[in-house]
Amino acid sequence: MNTLGLPARARYFCTVTCDADAVEALGWAAERDLAVLVLGGGSNCVFTGDVDGLVIHMGIQQRSIQGDRIEFGAGENWDAAVRFSIDQGFSGLECLALIPGSVGAAPVQNIGAYGVELCQLAPRVRVWDRHAQQSRWIDSAEAEYGYRDSLFKRDIGRFLILSVSLKLSRQAPDLPSYPDLQAELSALAAPSARDIADAVTRVRRRKLPDPAVLGNAGSFFKNPIVVIGVARELKAQYPEMPQFPHQGEVKLSAGWLIDQCGFKGAVRGSVGVSPAHALVLVHHGGGTGQDLMALAREIQRSVFERYGVQLEPEPRVI
Ligand SMILES: Cc1cc2nc3c(=O)[nH]c(=O)nc-3n(C[C@H](O)[C@H](O)[C@H](O)COP(=O)(O)OP(=O)(O)OC[C@H]3O[C@@H](n4cnc5c(N)ncnc54)[C@H](O)[C@@H]3O)c2cc1C
Repeated sequence: MNTLGLPARARYFCTVTCDADAVEALGWAAERDLAVLVLGGGSNCVFTGDVDGLVIHMGIQQRSIQGDRIEFGAGENWDAAVRFSIDQGFSGLECLALIPGSVGAAPVQNIGAYGVELCQLAPRVRVWDRHAQQSRWIDSAEAEYGYRDSLFKRDIGRFLILSVSLKLSRQAPDLPSYPDLQAELSALAAPSARDIADAVTRVRRRKLPDPAVLGNAGSFFKNPIVVIGVARELKAQYPEMPQFPHQGEVKLSAGWLIDQCGFKGAVRGSVGVSPAHALVLVHHGGGTGQDLMALAREIQRSVFERYGVQLEPEPRVI
């Protein structure tokens, strides 16, 4: 149940398919003083050992449309939700096609791809708040979304996400500005949301290893963000270093830093770095989460020694 294919066992496990199930499972764990881990598709988790508590697998399936909003149950598959929205004549989600995992996990790290982040779609998130012991809606302002970050990620364990409501559009979609997508769409005069989602799907299939074939969790590190002064010093020393403006600071490319340190295609026993994509750590089978984290630390050390930049893992390490 994790796309890295790492071995881990849960002491207790259940799948919940409605709000009442979820609340009952949380109560059951509280009575026994057990830690709780909510699991969707397991595509953003690194298991370094067994889970001594209750794993609640999110299985709530629900789709309802009201005006320009669609509310999806947290257990819906994300890509299926994207495709459903397009089938219903909406645009907005097309650039986020083929991101693995569940709808309920999408707000946790504010998923993003091709210049679009979940937070731009004005998500309202219905949660069970374990502090307040009640269900309530959390809007974008309260969720404090950031780059691969949110209140749900920072205050981990407090909120169980039950459903996500997204504000979509009936207008023609904005055209993506990324060159590889533009090349893919060049034959079409006015690409539809479906055309864009299909192009995104093709490009992603070419670029990223399929977790069903080779265990991985997508990008393993966040792109580091540094202040302008640090970025200038780095650029002076390494003129070829890619840098992107980011809300008054500068975003660096974690993949480029890792590649420059010679890790692309590296193998350490049963784990390694994808030969196609330096940001993707892979599990060839027969290894453990400890093996993977040892490689992650080796990469962090190497990048820090060479560039003075600290890489932060994107997935949750458990
Ligand atoms: C090949 C590949 C490509 C990827 N590409 C991208 C990409 O382009 N952009 C991107 O942003 N991410 C990407 N990812 C990462 C991943 O797909 C996303 O983070 C996704 O949202 C994780 O969903 P999940 O259901 O698998 O989450 P899980 O791994 O099950 O959980 C992730 C975190 O969310 C928590 N969580 C899950 N469900 C709930 C819930 N209902 N309530 C509260 N907390 C919950 C978990 O406890 C955990 O902390 C990629 C991963 C892979 C394997």
